[in-house]
Amino acid sequence: MKHYRIATIPGDGIGKEVLPAARAVLDRVGRHHGLSLAYDEFDWSCERYLAEGSMMPEDGLDRIRHHDSVLLGAVGRPGVPDHVSLWGLLIPIRRGFRQYVNLRPITVLEGVPSPVSRALPGEVDLVVVRENNEGEYSQVGGRIFEGTPEETVVQESVFTRRGVERVLEYAFDLAGRRGGRLTSATKSNGIVHTMPFWDELVAERAAEHPDVSWDQEHIDALAAKIVLDPARFDVIVGSNLFGDILSDLAAAVAGGIGVAPSANLNPEREFPSMFEPVHGSAPDIAGRGLANPLGAIWSASMMLDHLGHAEAGAQVMDAVRGVLASSPVRTADLGGTAGTDEFTGEVLSRLP
Ligand code: NAD
Ligand code: MN
Repeated sequence: MKHYRIATIPGDGIGKEVLPAARAVLDRVGRHHGLSLAYDEFDWSCERYLAEGSMMPEDGLDRIRHHDSVLLGAVGRPGVPDHVSLWGLLIPIRRGFRQYVNLRPITVLEGVPSPVSRALPGEVDLVVVRENNEGEYSQVGGRIFEGTPEETVVQESVFTRRGVERVLEYAFDLAGRRGGRLTSATKSNGIVHTMPFWDELVAERAAEHPDVSWDQEHIDALAAKIVLDPARFDVIVGSNLFGDILSDLAAAVAGGIGVAPSANLNPEREFPSMFEPVHGSAPDIAGRGLANPLGAIWSASMMLDHLGHAEAGAQVMDAVRGVLASSPVRTADLGGTAGTDEFTGEVLSRLP
């Protein structure tokens, strides 16, 4: 029996509704594969911020440093500025645990309607690799002459050789293990310091990976191509901001944000990696049992993969595919009438 300790952070809103669904699926498939999964739940959230003044305790990272992984729902709550939840919880975990790869697979599943008619199941299967530790998400900058006509705001981006090289290396390796194609998102015509540097390092890494065919596209044109012809892409690598935007765009192409999973990976395994659905806390539907748990369940499947149980992870996705392809059970965001529990129950019924 393999033992794992998982730190769970349900967070706010529908985060608290989709995380139990992911746990139920993990428990079921874990039992079948002889895995013992123990959970420690942490109430780190905007709710905690309102009550105690911080998203997580001072020693938060130390409390989860020795867990095998972190499973997060979503954070965000009306009345708490979004930068508080991001900089008070998500970014400290991503940076503190050197989770420099944000992996977002985008697959069109049979039975999930895409708003893009050319996005067909079996054809669209791409992965966005987002740099997760530096880039445009930076606190370097400032504001002067506030409230005057001269008001001026500067926001710096930070790109380091080590930080860019390691995420590119991961992306080229991944492309080598998948379809052998890599697209780099750039904007070196307009952003004249960081993006040409990014492009140079892409070319350097490419020289070390002759098995991967690669190209680069300006972010604006690339966004259009993902909508017009998503099937042509295999691995797309981008900076923190570009990767964030492209993965939400691609998730929408694949049928919606409620379906999309993500993994914040520390590839060296010095620290726990974190798995979370791409969506937020969805205050507009929170508390009503309507949330689609698929993004969280898919993220849990990625966690199983990362822990070395690819077969268990694949079984979860087979069960999900089974529900969507051969039953009418789906949540309202996918045009159905099922609630979170009913959809989860249907997935559970298809697991061994
Ligand atoms: P959101 O993803 O919460 O919601 C966008 C829309 O999609 C809403 O209409 C929502 O009802 C719907 N939706 C999202 N997930 C769904 C699901 N699983 N099932 C069915 N419908 C779903 O994004 P938002 O409205 O921009 O943000 C709400 C809050 O969440 C904000 O505070 C934001 O900062 C936060 N947020 C957090 C994360 C995170 O925790 N990683 C990510 C994005 C946004
Ligand atoms: Mn995003």
